[in-house]
Amino acid sequence: MLSTADALATLLGAAVQIDGEQTLPTLDALNRVLAADVISPLDVPPMNTSSMDGYAVRLADLAHGDRRLPVSQRVPAGHAPQPLAAGTAARIFTGATVPPGADAIVMQEQTESAGNEVTLLHTPKAGEWITQQGADIRRGAVILPAGTRLTPQALGLAASVGCAELHVMRRVKVAVFFTGDELTMPGEPLKPGAIYNSNRFTLRGLLEKLGCDVTDYGIVADKLDATRATLRDAAREHDLILTCGGVSVGEEDHVKPAVEAEGRLSMWQIAMKPGKPLAFGAVRRAPVGTESPASAASATGHATARAETFFIGLPGNPVSSFATFVLFVRPFVLRLAGVRTVTPRALSLRADFTQQKADRRNEFLRARVNAAGGLDLFPNQSSAVLTSTVWGDGLIDNPPNHAISAGETVRFIPFSELLN
Ligand code: AMP
Ligand code: MG
Repeated sequence: MLSTADALATLLGAAVQIDGEQTLPTLDALNRVLAADVISPLDVPPMNTSSMDGYAVRLADLAHGDRRLPVSQRVPAGHAPQPLAAGTAARIFTGATVPPGADAIVMQEQTESAGNEVTLLHTPKAGEWITQQGADIRRGAVILPAGTRLTPQALGLAASVGCAELHVMRRVKVAVFFTGDELTMPGEPLKPGAIYNSNRFTLRGLLEKLGCDVTDYGIVADKLDATRATLRDAAREHDLILTCGGVSVGEEDHVKPAVEAEGRLSMWQIAMKPGKPLAFGAVRRAPVGTESPASAASATGHATARAETFFIGLPGNPVSSFATFVLFVRPFVLRLAGVRTVTPRALSLRADFTQQKADRRNEFLRARVNAAGGLDLFPNQSSAVLTSTVWGDGLIDNPPNHAISAGETVRFIPFSELLN
């Protein structure tokens, strides 16, 4: 059995970044991945600004002990000031440009004004309450490197230097389908022996949160021909084909022979719980000219630049498919998308429970942060219990052969790191 670390390293080693870039209005670029560095064309702030309502002064004028100055101008934000006349103060407001010649601001609360004069009750230091030009960003600085996923804050930062458009990667195109004769869609009556296709909802949601362009082929009939045809069709237009179910050892299933016939497949037993089986491989793309005219047009596009489409087969158990997705598919897809940092950040937290039985596999336990800052464990850790994934707010990454004692520090990966 492969360790989780080896499985992840193999996947990331095989991932090839997609090509295909586009320019989007900054307002429409949320969650996209930057295809090029964003370089600031200006200093931020672009001029020295006051960070208080008050009075701008020349320190040299205060050297003689005179604290009463005539007010020579009024500078609201958004207006260009005159140079500050010697021996005077300028009334100034937060965000306004500091008049040339002024070297400090005295906040309003430390002054007394009478008529057109102000008395300073405080002697400022040089630069007091002045935000220097370029204090946040210097012109020419890389403010967001290529490979950054654009958060709302990143969009704000790009906008703060005046970027109206951003150069981003196109979305990763993922085809997904589900196997299992027992699967029924919500809305349909449940026949004896059937279950609802919950994974369709979980996996589609996970893919959409990752910003993928998803084609959902639904439940594919459990026949070799149908499975091969779906793989061939999906391979043309997508970067990754994801399937769910039927990858356990020895199972009579059509996904494995279908992928072997249409491409190549490695089946892995990963030493993890939940989610032992995972299939990884690729499906050949039909050579240009052999497909229908509609898809031939896009064969010149970026999605078809490679000779094959990646394939990942997830186990069918709901918690297993969820865990294998967030731990393996997510970093793989992010790497295809050009994201540099794909590993989730973990926290060291105290276990407020005891788990006496050590498992020889790497366990990913559903747990929740309690009010005392420790971790509680969901009582039923079965790979079929989807409730645990809703109750929990992350996974404890428990190494193989390790029992957990209350009070011990464990490695916790919050869902906020795995679902974004
Ligand atoms: P499999 O990986 O096909 O051996 O399936 C393992 C278990 O997961 C079985 O109990 C299946 O019924 C269940 N399962 C498979 N696919 C799904 C699905 N899409 N939604 C919910 N449960 C599923
Ligand atoms: Mg099955």
